[in-house]
Amino acid sequence: MKIKILSKGKEEIKFEVDKINPAFANALRRTMIMEVPTLAIEEVDFRANDSPMFDEVLAHRLGLIPVKFKPKMLKKMADCSCEGEGCINCQVVFVLDKTGPAIIYSGDLKSTNPDVEPLYDNIPIVKLGEKQRLIFEATAIIGTGKEHVKWKAANAFYTYKDDKFVFTVETISGLSPKEIITKATEIMEEKSKELTKLL
Ligand SMILES: [Zn+2]
Repeated sequence: MKIKILSKGKEEIKFEVDKINPAFANALRRTMIMEVPTLAIEEVDFRANDSPMFDEVLAHRLGLIPVKFKPKMLKKMADCSCEGEGCINCQVVFVLDKTGPAIIYSGDLKSTNPDVEPLYDNIPIVKLGEKQRLIFEATAIIGTGKEHVKWKAANAFYTYKDDKFVFTVETISGLSPKEIITKATEIMEEKSKELTKLL
């Protein structure tokens, strides 16, 4: 396998891979999209919501905000030593307490973990009118695109040209394209090791 980086940006990487078969190319693409773990808001506990949006709609919007985090510091709840109870090693809580008139942006979410924050601070969430209040605690957890689209790490596709696969990987999560590609290859390596063990 020969890899050549064609372009490398903060949000997108293009690379060319030589001497792989279509099945491998497709497995790599799917792993990057569906299996690389990311962090997203899963549960929202509303103390007050006078906004024009229902709790469920607001919670759904919050779930889609990309969150920046350090992958090695957070575990999936199922793999955590708290055994699914929820703790600082597998959950991150964001708090918000605002009174209108105001437009609430992703940057208004205050993280309780210094290593975690919304990737962009300018995503509009909801508009509050005069004296309308919005108070909630939102809990983010690690998941994968296989479980729900909000944990999808990247958009990835490839084209096939002159016996080479040209991949484009665009992040849509808090991970960099490089982190996504690295993690995907680790996951694939882990799987092939497991298979070898079984055989
Ligand atoms: Zn835990």
